[in-house]
Amino acid sequence: MIDIIKVLGPFILGLFASVIIDLRRDYKRNKRSKKFILNYLKSTILPELPKVELDYQNVKMNIENYSNEKIKVQVFETFNSNILKAIEPVEYYAIFKEKYTLLNEIISTIEFLSQNLPLKISNEFYDILNKHLKEKNKIGDLEHEKGCGYCLDNRLRIISIIDFRLNEINEVRDKIKTFLR
Ligand SMILES: [Zn+2]
Repeated sequence: MIDIIKVLGPFILGLFASVIIDLRRDYKRNKRSKKFILNYLKSTILPELPKVELDYQNVKMNIENYSNEKIKVQVFETFNSNILKAIEPVEYYAIFKEKYTLLNEIISTIEFLSQNLPLKISNEFYDILNKHLKEKNKIGDLEHEKGCGYCLDNRLRIISIIDFRLNEINEVRDKIKTFLR
């Protein structure tokens, strides 16, 4: 028995030590990831939200005012979920535990918003409108746009989509603030 301990002792100790090293490595990595995610949400995503919101509002106002010219809107290259998705859900769960669900909702909303930015909505509206006006030979005919059911439907549909997005921005902002608390 003593011989076995003599033989296996160092091996077991070694195994034990390597488990501790692994745990400490995970702990350190998790701590780094946690700091990174919190900082990314706080310093990159949160400050971008009002800018996205403002562009949505400008696009909406432009459409409501029957402007036939697209306004300039930003591309928002840094506003996306790529960085947030670089970390595996398993790791997120290990880091954030019960807050994981909230984070997951935040990431999904950011992903959705980043794929449906003001530029895309604006392009969609004017593509549909201009194609239709061209077909009807009514380009530049404001009276037509104000009286035509198709034109009004397109306008109302896009405006309600924008209102929905604005609402989502507010919700995700509140969620991020709760998450950072
Ligand atoms: Zn029309």
